[in-house]
Amino acid sequence: MPVLSIQSISKSYGRVQALKNVNFEVPAGSVYGILGPNGSGKTTLLATVLNVLLADSGSYSWFGGLPPAEARRRIGSLLETPNFYHYMSAYDNLGITAAIRQRGEGDRLRVLEQVGLLQRKDSKFQTFSLGMKQRLAIGAALLGRPDVLVLDEPTNGLDPVGIAEIRELIKVLNKQGTTIIIASHQLDEIEKVCTHVAILKHGTLLLNRPVDEVMRSEEQVEVMAADMAELKKVISEMPGLTTIKASEGVLLLTCEHGIGAADINEYCIKNGVVLSQLMLRKRSLESKFMELTNAQ
Ligand code: ATP
Repeated sequence: MPVLSIQSISKSYGRVQALKNVNFEVPAGSVYGILGPNGSGKTTLLATVLNVLLADSGSYSWFGGLPPAEARRRIGSLLETPNFYHYMSAYDNLGITAAIRQRGEGDRLRVLEQVGLLQRKDSKFQTFSLGMKQRLAIGAALLGRPDVLVLDEPTNGLDPVGIAEIRELIKVLNKQGTTIIIASHQLDEIEKVCTHVAILKHGTLLLNRPVDEVMRSEEQVEVMAADMAELKKVISEMPGLTTIKASEGVLLLTCEHGIGAADINEYCIKNGVVLSQLMLRKRSLESKFMELTNAQ
């Protein structure tokens, strides 16, 4: 059962249509990345499913249709950094958050340990680095042991060390069973931690698939032979070939799932062409993202 199911959500701010008929499902146990350039609708989508904003049309359901108040108790979220008190300790700040949310007062030490701040629990918030502040904010979202964590741009403004710490934390939390929904415009982040990705542009969902499937579909095989015209003629007829493109003196091939470089080599030999070059090129999620977002 998906933890979140979104059906045909649309939302406008005056003349700006921030979400256009968005549909997707977040499987339990996934790290689900919502990727998109600035202004593509990521925050609007998260705010809508967290009931902070009202959609113009469409619907969503959490945990197969739990009543909203019950579902809310199972979700921890970080849409923007909470207003922590600068002169208070991490522990006391979490106490205030727990009291406001009526959740997790007795959970503070566990949460501080989870986000690596137990040793600093009595330090004032104002003495924390940006990365520590962000980890404390994630800690606040973890009060009460939510099943799902929703994070909007959790690494914004952090240095590489801070980014790596948040990434590790997301991986650990997910291993412990938390489903994580994360909005980001950092492709690298999505590629490294997410199991699934949805790509938004101008409020339209362009893609919604497991990350490894996207990466697999991005694999290309580069081939070359002494007689390139003959190679092109032969290879064009290979069953399972999906695209063929000439580029800088080589042919770039993409194939259906299950057909790889060895099959291409074998097919060429069988058809009288000896390859002088055969190489697998793995493209990044970035190339797919650029291809999709530039084409629209
Ligand atoms: P970013 O990566 O910059 O945070 P985003 O993908 O989260 O962007 P949104 O903040 O959801 O995108 O914005 C989607 C569109 O809706 C943008 O065109 C934005 O200008 C517009 N928008 C968002 N909030 C409002 C608002 N309160 N009033 C008017 N327009 C808004």
